Amino acid sequence: MSQETIFTKIINREIPADIIYEDELTLAFKDINPQAPLHCLIIPKQPIATINDITEDKRELVGHLYVVAAKIAKQQGVADDGYRVVMNCNEHGGQSVYHIHLHMLAGKPLGWPPYTDKAKV
Ligand code: AMP
Repeated sequence: MSQETIFTKIINREIPADIIYEDELTLAFKDINPQAPLHCLIIPKQPIATINDITEDKRELVGHLYVVAAKIAKQQGVADDGYRVVMNCNEHGGQSVYHIHLHMLAGKPLGWPPYTDKAKV
């Protein structure tokens, strides 16, 4: 699977995005199709296609995504009310962009479970 996705273009500033956080390792920007009042994506600058490609050597980088999530939550004023971070994997997980990303959803009480199909397992 190609490592080059639309997120690489956002990292390289080849296409625009509403960037709300950046550091040496990560970038965070607003989701183009928001599912909550605050919906942003936190991505590593290093492309990793799916959760299945996270190996031991990526441990710090992936952990850092959560450190960034906590920073953004404070920066955006949603830390105390709460929020959800989720990473989808492959087709059944609902992944559409094959460059791992944490979705951060906040700004209203979020439903659970997070799918609309009421069929039980
Ligand atoms: P997923 O389905 O978990 O892979 O999530 C991919 C997310 O990327 C979706 O929520 C899309 O709305 C979002 N997305 C796709 N293209 C862009 C873009 N150019 N800028 C911001 N968000 C995007």
